Amino acid sequence: MMGVALIWIVFAVIVALIASNKGRSAGAWLIYGLLLWPVALIHVALASNLKDVQAQQRQAAEVAHSKTCPRCAETIKAAARVCRFCQYEFSEEELRETEDDMPMLPPGYQPKV
Ligand SMILES: [Zn+2]
Repeated sequence: MMGVALIWIVFAVIVALIASNKGRSAGAWLIYGLLLWPVALIHVALASNLKDVQAQQRQAAEVAHSKTCPRCAETIKAAARVCRFCQYEFSEEELRETEDDMPMLPPGYQPKV
C-alpha cells in the first residue's frame, strides 16, 4: 500500500514540475496531481506553455509600439525621435504620422514588459 501512495505522490510532483516549467502554478497542479494525477498528467502535457504565450504577447506588443527606421531599416520604438542604430532623426511630420497610428491609450499608460 505504501508503494502505491509513493507512486501517487511522485506522479503528482511530476505534474507540478511540468506545470511550473510551463509557467503555471506548481502548488495548484500539485494538488490537482494528488487528487487525480492520471488526468492531471495528460492535462498538463496538453496545456500550452504560458511562457511561450506571454513571450508572443510581448512580441506582439513590441511590434505594435514600433516603427521601422527609413534609413537603416532597424525596428525602433514608435515614440523614438532619433534612431538608436543610425541616429536618423525623424521629422516632426514623421513623428505625427506615427502618433496617429498609435492606439488610444489612457494617460500615463506604460506598456507591460
Ligand atoms: Zn536607423
